[in-house]
Amino acid sequence: MFHKILIANRGEIACRVIETARRLGVRTVAVYSDADRNAKHVAMADEAVQIGHGPAPADSYLLADEILAAAKLTGAEGIHPGYGFLSENPDFVDKVEAAGLAFIGPSAAAIRAMGLKDAAKALMEEAGVPVVPGYHGRRQDADFLAEEAGRIGYPVLIKAVAGGGGKGMRLVEDAAQFADALASAQGEATTAFGNPAVLIEKYIQKPRHIEVQVFGDGTSAVHLFERDCSLQRRHQKVIEEAPAPGMTREMRSAMGDAAVRAAEAIGYAGAGTVEFIVDGADGLRTDGFWFMEMNTRLQVEHPVTEAITGVDLVEWQLRVAAGEGLPSRQEDLHITGHAFEARLYAEDVPKGFLPATGTLSHLTFPDGVRADSGVRAGDTISPWYDPMIAKVIVHGPTRGAALRQLDDALARTQVAGTVTNLAFLGALARHRGFAAGNVDTGLIARDLDSLAAAPEPAVAHKVAAAMVALDLVTPHPETGFTLWADLQRSVTLAWQGTPFEAMVAVNGPHAQTWTIGEDRVRAVRLAHGWQIGDLGMPAVARAGDQITVFDRYGLTFTVADPLDRDAGALGDGNLIEAPMPGLVKAIFATVGQEVKEGDRLAILEAMKMEHSLLAARDGTVAEILAQTGDQVEAGAALVRLEEAGTGA
Ligand code: ADP
Ligand code: ADP
Ligand code: MG
Repeated sequence: MFHKILIANRGEIACRVIETARRLGVRTVAVYSDADRNAKHVAMADEAVQIGHGPAPADSYLLADEILAAAKLTGAEGIHPGYGFLSENPDFVDKVEAAGLAFIGPSAAAIRAMGLKDAAKALMEEAGVPVVPGYHGRRQDADFLAEEAGRIGYPVLIKAVAGGGGKGMRLVEDAAQFADALASAQGEATTAFGNPAVLIEKYIQKPRHIEVQVFGDGTSAVHLFERDCSLQRRHQKVIEEAPAPGMTREMRSAMGDAAVRAAEAIGYAGAGTVEFIVDGADGLRTDGFWFMEMNTRLQVEHPVTEAITGVDLVEWQLRVAAGEGLPSRQEDLHITGHAFEARLYAEDVPKGFLPATGTLSHLTFPDGVRADSGVRAGDTISPWYDPMIAKVIVHGPTRGAALRQLDDALARTQVAGTVTNLAFLGALARHRGFAAGNVDTGLIARDLDSLAAAPEPAVAHKVAAAMVALDLVTPHPETGFTLWADLQRSVTLAWQGTPFEAMVAVNGPHAQTWTIGEDRVRAVRLAHGWQIGDLGMPAVARAGDQITVFDRYGLTFTVADPLDRDAGALGDGNLIEAPMPGLVKAIFATVGQEVKEGDRLAILEAMKMEHSLLAARDGTVAEILAQTGDQVEAGAALVRLEEAGTGA
């Protein structure tokens, strides 16, 4: 086993690797960017080395040579790449090995073999693994590709061969749309991957994403069963589970065998995932699954596999990279129970899942739940990396039990300081179709409106916030609590920018009468705490002027400054501003152009995603204030419209 390893990553996966290394007595070296000086992974590691000179991945976590120098400097014998960043970069693997260090992952050759979707599909066909019917050859002229699409039969999916993260992918319903879709897929593929080549696949109806965890020692491989990752939004996974609902013994062994064949065909070493698309229209059938791609790394959702198999995949990675054989034989691997993972992100769901930033003034997870997180209370979700807060993982004896645990765990997770997708995850955990195991990749999109609805506070929640604002929870002398005479107080709070006044008559230390608008609510102090109307006092956290009531997945109120009444009256719709720091990818507006409310005027790339910036009203473009390629700050004005009423 290694004595010391370096982890070339950040966030939850760096922390995850450090935990296992520590348990195995392996010392750890963290690397960090400027922005991550005080990050959790740095605090957890035995040593830490700063990399690069700026926070952006290109100036830090992607600097292969600096990372190698840090490994040399600290005497690390191996490098764990985590996921993302350099984890699937074969040139990095070559460099690590040339420096005489071990790469804790597959060989450069195996990564190259799976790096391009077209070559990987050809290789898999040869190895006898079913691949999605389609065209994955070299010819790329539009007419020829259109002919192939017709031959395959609509609907088809155009995919960038170098693609990842759902980029460069277009669903085409009929021949008339093909040319436009092809051009836009090629354009996106060129910007994102520097490679315009595409392949065309039959679009599978009612598709399910089922992937198989494989593990190899360079010669032979085993599989650790499947994960179902069908709950996706725009081809990004949201909740994953293992095993897959409705899986049969025949289907599992057919998929497991195919995945092991795929891994062995490329002499795979370490943890990998073979992703299949499955036709879920009519139950699971052994002739209804096809290879999509192989991810040659540890996957974000690996904990659900760990939960049902009892295997620590990072331990296996370290052991195999240190020269041991496969830690287990196929016949010794078994599934126990059912597991779910939900990805908790800082994002504004009602605003189109806009990634958010912020300082986590409060962060707690319920006891007994595995929460893999790279942040602690007090840490900041910065705009530089993906806005993941944590992965919440539960394991129960049956799917139903595990799903109830997930529901409960999400309801009891407390985050303040940023908006999150917690309510959305909670709505999914309570979704009837999901509970019934009717999963397919279209589930979220079909029910998006109800799933993405923002939770609203009841009067009792407003009272809970007001009690904290006025410091009326615990009796102490200054607040007049001890007076027997009624005491009148009031406070102005705001819910999503709309102010309301909460007035209270304090009827002694154990009773308060609250008035908010038309509503009157009695609060009484019982042995276990306050009872507000029919609501038991929930946990509440205050940070500055923000008060978060931990019910309905977190309800955040602002204490309004009475001297600043008009603060909310900004945003006349003249300016189109960057909602977060990012890179201006495109500006579509030109000076003098007439635009309609909702027209897309610019694209901002931030936090791994592209955001369309829309006109807030009809009008005429007065000024363009930024250029394609500009790096802009949050709030930077990009486009200005003429004053309403003054345009031509
Ligand atoms: P998976 O297929 O395992 O579910 P995703 O496709 O969601 O993973 O994402 C790929 C990986 O890229 C993620 O694990 C993510 O953490 C990582 N990543 C996040 N931000 C960055 C970044 N700024 N640069 C490079 N990689 C990143
Ligand atoms: P990426 O590299 O971006 O992860 P994938 O090829 O893995 O691209 O596909 C991402 C997602 O797109 C899948 O998880 C699935 O939801 C959907 N998808 C991919 N191929 C097909 C297909 N042929 N038919 C239907 N859906 C598909
Ligand atoms: Mg994929």
